[in-house]
Amino acid sequence: ESNKSQQYIEVEEAHGAHNYHPLPVVLERGDGVYVWDVDGKRYFDFLSAYSAVNQGHCHPSIINAMNGQAKTLTLTSRAFHNDKLGAFNKYITEYFNFDKVLPMNTGAEAVETAIKIARKWAYEKKGVAETDAQIIVCDNNFHGRTTTIISFSNDENARKNFGPYTPGFIKIPYDDTDALEKALQQDNVAGFLVEPIQGEAGVYTPSDDYMRKAKELCTKNNVLFIADEIQTGIARTGALLAVCGKCDCQGHCERQETYSRPDVLILGKALSGGAYPVSAVLADDEIMNVIHPGQHGSTFGGNPVAAVVAMAALDVVKDESLAQNARKLGSYFRAQINEYIETTDTVVLVRGRGLLNAIVINDSEDGDTAWNICMRLRDHGLLAKPTHGNIIRFAPPLVMTMEQLDECIAIIIKTLKEF
Ligand code: PLP
Repeated sequence: ESNKSQQYIEVEEAHGAHNYHPLPVVLERGDGVYVWDVDGKRYFDFLSAYSAVNQGHCHPSIINAMNGQAKTLTLTSRAFHNDKLGAFNKYITEYFNFDKVLPMNTGAEAVETAIKIARKWAYEKKGVAETDAQIIVCDNNFHGRTTTIISFSNDENARKNFGPYTPGFIKIPYDDTDALEKALQQDNVAGFLVEPIQGEAGVYTPSDDYMRKAKELCTKNNVLFIADEIQTGIARTGALLAVCGKCDCQGHCERQETYSRPDVLILGKALSGGAYPVSAVLADDEIMNVIHPGQHGSTFGGNPVAAVVAMAALDVVKDESLAQNARKLGSYFRAQINEYIETTDTVVLVRGRGLLNAIVINDSEDGDTAWNICMRLRDHGLLAKPTHGNIIRFAPPLVMTMEQLDECIAIIIKTLKEF
C-alpha cells in the first residue's frame, strides 16, 4: 500500500471498532464497473459492495433522482405522508407483482420484518398457539447481523457470546427437500426462510429444482415460503429474481416450472443501486394485512429519497436489460474459468448463476491462499474478497460489457497462474 492509503487505514482503525477485515485498498471514486483509490489507481470492482451496486457505481439516473429529491424533501417520518411513497409503493408492487410492500432501510431490518409478519400470520391466520410459531431456516444461512438473526446462524464467529438467543427457529440442511418435508410435519410452522443461492456461505448454488420443490412443499403444508433475495435478487443471477430461474418475465408470467413465487419476498442492496440504504418486504394482502398501525415501522423506512432512488434503480435494471446481460456474461465467465481449471491445480471449481459466482481455491478453509490471490488481483487492478477462507466471490456490476469482462478474465487467469 502507498503511504497515503496507509494513513487513511491507520486513522480508520485507530478510531473505529474492528468489526471488519477489509482488503487494504482505500477507494475515493467510482464510475460504472470501475473504482479508483486515493492514489488514482483504477480497479475493476468484482464485489459490487456485496451485490448492492448491480447498476454500476454512481449511475447517473439514480444519482440525479437522489440529488433532486435531496434538495426538495428528505424525511417526513411516517407520522405524515410524503408525495413519493405512494408512487414507490405502486411502482414496486407492480414491478414484482405483489399486492403490498413494507419499506425499510437495511437487509437485516427487512428480514426481521419478514419474521414478524410470518409469526403474526401464523397466530392470526393459521391458528398457531401464541409464542409457539417456528420458522424453518437452513444451515450456513446468512440473513444479517441482528440478535434474532444471528440466533439461527451457525457461524460461530457471528454468534458466540451474543446470546441469549431468540428461540423459534428450526435448522435443516440446505438444498435438501426431504429434510424440509420432514420439518414441515410439525403443525406450528409459520414459514421457511431461504436464500435462493447462499451468497455469504460461498455462492453455494442448489439444485435447479430446489426452489420449486420447496415452494410446493410449503404451499402443501400451509407454510409461508419466504425468499431472502437481498443478495441474489434484482438481476444479479441473470433473472430479475433468483426464484425466477431462467425466465425473462420479471416475475409476471408465473410459469410453474421456472418461477417459485415467494409468499414473502425480501429485497435490499441493489434496490437502490448502492446509492442509499433501501430495503423492502413484499407480500399479498392476506399476509401483509396482519400488520396494523403501531405494530412495525422505521423512522427512515419509506422516506422520499429512498422512494425515488429505488424507482430509478429499478428503471435502470429494465432499461439496460441487466438480467439478460448478467446471464450472458455469467455463462461466458464460467465457461472461460472452467477451461482454465482443466489446466491447473490451484482452482477446484467455479460455481454460480448469472454474475454471482465463486471459485474454490485448492487450500483449506484456514489457509491464506485465497487472501493472497485477492491481494495480487488488487495489484493487477481487480478487487475481490475471499468468503470463508478458500472461496473467492466474483460479482461485478451488471453493466459490464463483454470486452471489459474479457479483460477481467485475463487478469484473473494471469493472477491465478502466479500461484
Ligand atoms: N440477507 C442476505 C442474503 C444478505 O446477503 C445480506 C447481506 O449480505 C443480508 C441479508 C443483510 O443485509 P444488510 O447487511 O443490509 O443488513
